[in-house]
Amino acid sequence: MRLRNIPGARDVIEESIWAIKNPEGCKGKWKEVFGNNNPVRIEIGMGKGRFIMDLAALNPDINYIGIEKYSSVMLRGIHKQEQLLLPNIRFIRMEAEIITEVFDKGEVDRIYLNFSDPWPKDRHAKRRLPSREFLSRYDEILKKDGVVEFKTDNTDLFDFALEEVAPAGWKIDAVTRDLHNDPALNEGNIMTEYEEKFSKLGNPIYKYIISR
Ligand code: SAH
Repeated sequence: MRLRNIPGARDVIEESIWAIKNPEGCKGKWKEVFGNNNPVRIEIGMGKGRFIMDLAALNPDINYIGIEKYSSVMLRGIHKQEQLLLPNIRFIRMEAEIITEVFDKGEVDRIYLNFSDPWPKDRHAKRRLPSREFLSRYDEILKKDGVVEFKTDNTDLFDFALEEVAPAGWKIDAVTRDLHNDPALNEGNIMTEYEEKFSKLGNPIYKYIISR
């Protein structure tokens, strides 16, 4: 998601108490950041943050962190949070490539990837968030029985993501190529902004849940 650059977006984020200023300094200390021992779940590429903020409102006993690389996009989430004041959510403006510098071994309970950038050129495959390179980073930070949940409407990206699972040493716990018509997987589904937009156009939504 890329919005027109909003002048001052970075400054607003810098000043917000909901945005983590020094994420590397929080490594191993996320319990202290939230002030409790609740599980920490993250969304990488949260966009404007609707999905993760809906989850945070529904599940006060779980902590959530939304990660997004663009300040203009993240700004929307910050503004919304300044109204909602949910105690169990924080935001980090960063590139996901450095995720292992921000979370310690086993510190993350679950990882959500929603409508990740497709990076269609082969030479950019490593940048795709469900690539084996990223799965090995998730392996470092995710607790032993933790899962990665991935949703997209992009067929090529989903096919690629499925092919990456076994070589990376993960296994598929659940998979569907039509989430909204899959009673089991769709139960309690929280829609993302892109999910609503693309399903309205008639695109089926793909989803997998994987673990090690
Ligand atoms: N998850 C949202 C937005 C999807 S668009 C939804 O489903 O509605 C994908 C988002 O991921 C964009 O906002 C993009 O800026 C962000 N993103 C892509 N690659 C990223 C990376 N490496 N690190 C952090 N954010 C990333």
